[in-house]
Amino acid sequence: MNAFDYVAASDVGSALRSGSAARSRYLAGGTTLLDLMKLGVEQPTVVVDVNGLATADPSLARVVELPDGGLRLGGLARMSDVAWDPRVRDRYPFVSQSLLLAASGQLRNMATMGGNVLQRTRCPYFRDTATPCNKREPGTGCSALHGITRTHAILGTSEHCIATHPSDLAVALAALDATLRVRGTSGSERTIQFTHFHLLPDAHPDRETVLEHGDLITAIDLPALPFARHSLYLKVRDRASYAFALASAAVALDVQGGMVRDSRIALGGVGTRPWRSPEAERVLVGQPATHATFESAANAALAGAQPRGQNAFKVELAKRTLVRTLTEVAA
Ligand code: SF4
Repeated sequence: MNAFDYVAASDVGSALRSGSAARSRYLAGGTTLLDLMKLGVEQPTVVVDVNGLATADPSLARVVELPDGGLRLGGLARMSDVAWDPRVRDRYPFVSQSLLLAASGQLRNMATMGGNVLQRTRCPYFRDTATPCNKREPGTGCSALHGITRTHAILGTSEHCIATHPSDLAVALAALDATLRVRGTSGSERTIQFTHFHLLPDAHPDRETVLEHGDLITAIDLPALPFARHSLYLKVRDRASYAFALASAAVALDVQGGMVRDSRIALGGVGTRPWRSPEAERVLVGQPATHATFESAANAALAGAQPRGQNAFKVELAKRTLVRTLTEVAA
């Protein structure tokens, strides 16, 4: 691990000042950053610890009611606290489920909302500094293209990167049309629609989000969406615990009289970013909530899939995952 300066920020203003330094990184739960620093993938010269910000402003680590019936998740709120919050479990079951199906109990007690949506890919080549990787070192090439691809993406890939986005929570947030609240180094606050937050790899897989250097995520707003009470996050993985998704689906359905009135659908484990599927949603709306309709939606969601060698099984797996999730929510 390289030498670095450690700064414990006490409020948002001081965090942003330190965070504006070149090669700085914010430290919250540390469950991604410390791993990557030990591996030499991340080499910050300044580490800004933002955990103390919640002392000055406790709302940064809490779940807060919004006037419209939505909820604000503080950027420093821990995964466990959000997952077990009764309001989250009642109004947004798939958010709670996506958190509880991720990582381990110990990691969920440390990791934060802001850190979760910024976590980096688990592509093994990205974490191995002895191999070329465009995401880690732009322009060096992509080792996965001619390597082991079993866990890689089939949607949103480019000839420069096929890495899968690892977050479960982000899949539910994409389905929900959540909004990020961000403070920039100038101190001003802005909002970012979650589905516009993560970038496709295209020719620049090293650029993963629309954040500018030094931006700090202060909160995630969940909009009021009554039919999100009828939602489910289903995750398929190699083992039943402590594994990343091979395929997952976040689904909310509004079914009245056997007909689908509205829907929200996103996929995980298959896309280079959390994969909202408006194509599948369009297929569902106005149709009977039947197995045949759900299969049509799954076909639409995966129509653009581009498998590579070992990950071809993900096409069918993702379809079946989505059909089963739709079936369970409709029931
Ligand atoms: Fe790097 Fe992306 Fe290729 Fe993995 S898939 S080696 S992260 S460029």
